[in-house]
Amino acid sequence: MAGLLSRLKKVEPVEQGEGELNPFGHASRAALLGSLENSDLGWFWASDAGGRIVYLSEPAARRIGKPSEEIVGLTITEIFAPLDDNDTPTNERPLKFQLAARNAIRPVTVQLGIGEHPGWWEIAGVPQIDEEGNFNGYHGIARDVSEEHESKRNAEKLSRYDSLTGLSNRHRTSKLLETTLTAFKASKRSCAIMLIDLDRFKQVNDTMGHPAGDELLKQVAGRLRRILGEDVEIGRIGGDEFKVIMPDEEDRGVLGDLAQRTIQMISQPYSVNGMRAVIGCSIGVAIAPFDGIESDELIKAADLALYAAKGGGRGQFRFYSSDLKDQAGYRHQIESDLRDAIAKDELEMHFQPIVDAKTHEVACVEALMRWNHHERGMISPADFIPVAEEVGIIREMGEWALNNVCQTIVNWPGAVTAAVNVSAVQFSSEDFVEIVRRALQKSGVNPERIELEITESVFVGDMERALRVFAELKELGVQLSLDDFGTGYSSLSYLRDAPFDKIKIDQSFVRGCTAPDNRNDAIIAAVVGLAGALGMKTVAEGVETKDELEAVTQQGATLLQGMLFSRAIPGEEILDRLERGELEFKPLGPAKYRSDRRTQFRKIGLIHGDDRYNVFLRNLSKTGAKVEGLLDVPVGTDIVLDLGGGQLAVATVRRSEGFSQGVEFETHLINDGANGLCTRHRVSPYQLEAAGKPLRSLNDEAVAVYTGAARTSPKAFVEVEIGRR
Ligand code: C2E
Ligand code: MG
Ligand code: MG
Repeated sequence: MAGLLSRLKKVEPVEQGEGELNPFGHASRAALLGSLENSDLGWFWASDAGGRIVYLSEPAARRIGKPSEEIVGLTITEIFAPLDDNDTPTNERPLKFQLAARNAIRPVTVQLGIGEHPGWWEIAGVPQIDEEGNFNGYHGIARDVSEEHESKRNAEKLSRYDSLTGLSNRHRTSKLLETTLTAFKASKRSCAIMLIDLDRFKQVNDTMGHPAGDELLKQVAGRLRRILGEDVEIGRIGGDEFKVIMPDEEDRGVLGDLAQRTIQMISQPYSVNGMRAVIGCSIGVAIAPFDGIESDELIKAADLALYAAKGGGRGQFRFYSSDLKDQAGYRHQIESDLRDAIAKDELEMHFQPIVDAKTHEVACVEALMRWNHHERGMISPADFIPVAEEVGIIREMGEWALNNVCQTIVNWPGAVTAAVNVSAVQFSSEDFVEIVRRALQKSGVNPERIELEITESVFVGDMERALRVFAELKELGVQLSLDDFGTGYSSLSYLRDAPFDKIKIDQSFVRGCTAPDNRNDAIIAAVVGLAGALGMKTVAEGVETKDELEAVTQQGATLLQGMLFSRAIPGEEILDRLERGELEFKPLGPAKYRSDRRTQFRKIGLIHGDDRYNVFLRNLSKTGAKVEGLLDVPVGTDIVLDLGGGQLAVATVRRSEGFSQGVEFETHLINDGANGLCTRHRVSPYQLEAAGKPLRSLNDEAVAVYTGAARTSPKAFVEVEIGRR
């Protein structure tokens, strides 16, 4: 192209005098230009000083789809629009600038701005300057590069989009976040990101095959698009991990609702190649500039939030907060120490009695693993079992559990059975049945005295295999219980097909079942009825109070388990009771369930006028709080509670008694995804920066905004010392 251009330049200005030697001859030069113009190799155009087209090769006009008379008179920029924003930004200087400067137009790709069909041309031109130095317009050439442009665009699209789901890929997503945050920092705008990680996707992929996994990911992408809308950027940044960028969003009420809805939608069953698949997802949310200003900070914050959401039992969302860092450290330590726990003999089995609903005599014990960590003491299985599943040592631990339980109860008198929890990961391993068989054989225990507690999540993926394994286990003679019923993806169809002996109704249904306007008692009654019809027993888990005991007994549960009877205790204690024939466990505990038990006791800031006081937060609800520590604050006083992390809640004192005040919030708090509450909005680090605090130092500390100016008058209220009660 450039070569052609220079030749045009050379050829045109030279007047060929008659008789002068010309290698082509006059006629042949015209013919050459003519044939060139008629080919699609290149066309000619010329403009006047005002940028209006005065000449365009006929074939070029035909390509545009307009007669050349209609094109003549239009300006260059009318015919050739600059590339639109979605197109590759080029390094070329935009056409408009080149024209305005009357510079030579270097080959530049432009988009046709007129005509019926889209098209991309490459044009170039040289300014025409006469002897007096006047600019008379351009002479130029053009050619159609639509095909090259399209294929280049496709290649770029491929490198920016995930070919499986059509979402942005990791590269594009992180670039976009970086440019967005850089731009927003200057304009002090906020931006939220959501990291979404699928739960149990690997299980589906492993049991149903990779093509099914791919299909599932496509459907997940479709659902995300529908829930989150077209306006946000959704990227797939790993196998089963997605990142969502939401500019100008900082309202944690909106974000929490969106996260909750996303979890619900993603957890609905999928139909993949004619099979049913169920997965879930966990979500971590971080918001700039509160949780991070640069993109790597913000991603780290969202990652920690996601990590906490997964650690919290999956199917949850979390907002980032600075204390997550400590929790992450704790989890890392669990992760590294867990590998040695078996070797160091730090695991123990405790046994919780499950009593007959009529006689309150122990019928069964549930084996619950305890980790006696050399530094930290007892660690809850709720903390370490998910980690063991993730780092892949759950099989080893599960085998240890089976052997331990079989060997323990083989010596127990009577017919008390023992239930062992089986993780879905353990269940899915090929040699699971074999491990059970070996544990039974080695100990010589009667298989009927062993129960395996299995959760609904084993039905994820390959249902046929699950049924086969159940049959093999029944063949061995062990009993099967369905644990935590109602918390997973309850489908009644697998209850019909699977040979369970017991259904354990999850504690969440038992808890508070006696509270007014609570429908849990109806659910319990329905499950009991269903189990009875299928010939299965029911266990009510987590019975803590006398009124819960009365309710679940009335609904007809056959067996009961909970703190009201006994927590999990060492095997020797159970053996001791069995040997003495003391089978009955008396219900000992509170009479009633209290929903307001979640009292708090933490130090927060209370701001009144120019003063900041330290007070204790006693109770926190969406609408208000009870604080202690200030003497005789009048009812009606307007205050601000500093709940930490930039969370300021404007409130009014409604009740006041000595050093204790009940306050009502101006704006309700919202759910923080972790059974806690938080403010919708936070004080922006930009506001604090304006108030003289450096932006960078703010992410870690609980923000103490009003530090109090130099005092001239005494504080309005008297602070009193309050100890932890
Ligand atoms: P799970 O199988 O549902 O076990 C019942 C849990 O409820 C136990 O928690 C038990 O201590 C607790 N619990 C019993 N009664 C009450 C009550 O009245 N109130 C309350 N609030 N809680 C009660 P724990 O021991 O912390 O175990 C938690 C979970 O860890 C278990 O839930 C089980 O899923 C898992 N787990 C425990 N041991 C093992 C094990 O050996 N292998 C596997 N794979 N998982 C285990
Ligand atoms: Mg259990
Ligand atoms: Mg349970």
